[in-house]
Amino acid sequence: MTLEEARRRVNELRDLIRHHNYLYYVLDAPEISDAEYDRLLGELKDLEERFPELKSPDSPTEQVGARPLEATFRPIRHPSRMYSLDNAFTLDEVRAFEERIERALGRRGPFAYTVESKVDGLSVNLYYEGGILVWGATRGDGETGEEVTQNLLTIPTLPRRLEGVPDRLEVRGEVYMPIAAFLRLNEELEERGERIFKNPRNAAAGSLRQKDPRITAKRGLRATFYTLGLGLEESGLRTQHDLLLWLQEKGFPVEHGFARAVGAEGVEEVYRAWLEERPNLPFEADGVVVKLDELALWRELGYTARAPRFALAYKFPAEEKETRLLEVAFQVGRTGRITPVGLLEPVFLGGSEVGRVTLHNEGYMEELDIRIGDWVLVHKAGGVIPEVLRVLKERRTGEERPILWPEACPECGHRLLREGKVHRCPNPLCPAKRFEALRHYASRKAMDIGGLGEKLIEKLLEKGLVRDVADLYRLGKEDLVGLERMGEKSAQNLLRQIEESKGRGLERLLYALGLPGVGEVLARNLALRFGQMDHLQEASLEELLEVEEVGELTARAILETLKDPAFRDLVRRLREAGVEMAAKEREGEALKGLSFVITGELSRPREEVKALLRRLGAKVTDAVSRKTSFLVVGESPGSKLEKARALGVPTLTEEALFRLVEEKTGKKLTDVLPA
Ligand code: AMP
Ligand code: ZN
Repeated sequence: MTLEEARRRVNELRDLIRHHNYLYYVLDAPEISDAEYDRLLGELKDLEERFPELKSPDSPTEQVGARPLEATFRPIRHPSRMYSLDNAFTLDEVRAFEERIERALGRRGPFAYTVESKVDGLSVNLYYEGGILVWGATRGDGETGEEVTQNLLTIPTLPRRLEGVPDRLEVRGEVYMPIAAFLRLNEELEERGERIFKNPRNAAAGSLRQKDPRITAKRGLRATFYTLGLGLEESGLRTQHDLLLWLQEKGFPVEHGFARAVGAEGVEEVYRAWLEERPNLPFEADGVVVKLDELALWRELGYTARAPRFALAYKFPAEEKETRLLEVAFQVGRTGRITPVGLLEPVFLGGSEVGRVTLHNEGYMEELDIRIGDWVLVHKAGGVIPEVLRVLKERRTGEERPILWPEACPECGHRLLREGKVHRCPNPLCPAKRFEALRHYASRKAMDIGGLGEKLIEKLLEKGLVRDVADLYRLGKEDLVGLERMGEKSAQNLLRQIEESKGRGLERLLYALGLPGVGEVLARNLALRFGQMDHLQEASLEELLEVEEVGELTARAILETLKDPAFRDLVRRLREAGVEMAAKEREGEALKGLSFVITGELSRPREEVKALLRRLGAKVTDAVSRKTSFLVVGESPGSKLEKARALGVPTLTEEALFRLVEEKTGKKLTDVLPA
């Protein structure tokens, strides 16, 4: 390659990488896999090494992340810089890392390291003064990040106050979304026909950068901490291992696990052990982080423009394989939603054979632009869940066929309903829905019939004792004894639980019945708004649309189901069986358990707002304490605001307060406020 050719390719790579940085860090919507990104960056690094005259301080190889988007969040300058990590993919590269250290220190190894798992989330910086959390921010470009304090405070394990720490302290770690929370979130988004997140990292980043902390709070984010910025010197700590123990002692979650190792070979051993553990981890890990244990050496080695010289990310192999999409099967889920499943030419991937992959919904397939017969690149997200990364369009022959959605339910033949990108079987008696419908109905957050396990449901369906949830209330002891080795006693227990389930109230019943798009929150909003099943059944589209969180598509789907004769019949039989059809929770309990303090001037008389909050079951006091749930902040707030900040009490603007009221009551503000 000539210098001219290299220059052209280097420029091309830099543009490409900047583009992908922007997609990844700012938009939380990457278009290529991490492994593909690493390959681009690796190629650029190689070229810059072979042609040093092409090096430049504004190359992505010299930079951390990307500068955040303007305006949404307050930019914050980190008191001390945040860095990225250099990558290694092989034992040889780990050896080279150790050799570089040997040369720089003029000392022979092997050295002692800590090895931590590299949690795939986004790094954050928490700033404490006098032991009190002042703000928290994302990394951004390493110098300037975005302030996301209110959102960070939704993470339950985050310490707001510390004892016996340096006066000015930066604590750094990773915010991530556990795999279980990620799957749940995507399931919910899918159910609503919304765009799903590509991976837990993007889901975490997207959730942390929500404008409304109440949404963040529902996303189940977690954090794990591993280093200090300011305050490291003053802490008197001597090793990374001690630093991690210190963080734990101060109350920081250190959930990523860590081990000690000596020399590159020692590191390799820990790496291999964790690679094996990877599928069992509750979070997605994309490698391990190797750090020199002795902190004194950190000072000696320092940093490059982009990364520390004393640490290294040793990445897990990103197993990606090419295979073909042979066919698409359509599955019917509990709510009747149809999920397309791609049947692949089986490939061996990350320790097992992969032959099926979910294609989620129509929107997802359109985005991939996938056809039957296509070559696709697959990997396992988090080392566990098979996923199509992209379609290899360059390998198309013209023989590929478009994927056609069925018109009728593959299980019962009922005509499918279409709500935007979601296809659904509306037949409440669809056999595919029976098992799942019963299981969901009995689940803890629904009607909570603990004794009704999966095996038993299968038996009941098999014997024809139960066809739908209303049949549960007709079961007698004689039906149950003998089923699934059930004795007198457990039969009696189960019947008691079934009896008790009648009184759970409309909110739980609506959730339990699995109305399309209706999760716990929506079920509650609907119950609060309509109070009675009758009223809900008579609701118009306009009335449904007034309920918080009900969109046009959901409203139409709910309406359609409510009108369905089979559904009406089901409700009638439930009512006859004695299942309660009225909401349990009343307006007076909407804000129960919350306490508010108000500061500054509001747009309505303060007494009126206080009365409203009290009427909704909240406590209103005059002084901020650690028990205060929210400080409501109006125009020209007083010293209460500072106090709240110091105690880490979340604040609400008047507007946010009213939104909270609307959400909790399921009513429009004008309906709850005196005219
Ligand atoms: P990269 O995402 O390629 O910039 O890799 C560096 C990032 O890895 C850091 O900025 C952290 O966000 C993240 N990371 C995850 N786990 C750890 C860990 N145990 N120690 C240091 N960094 C970590
Ligand atoms: Zn069906």
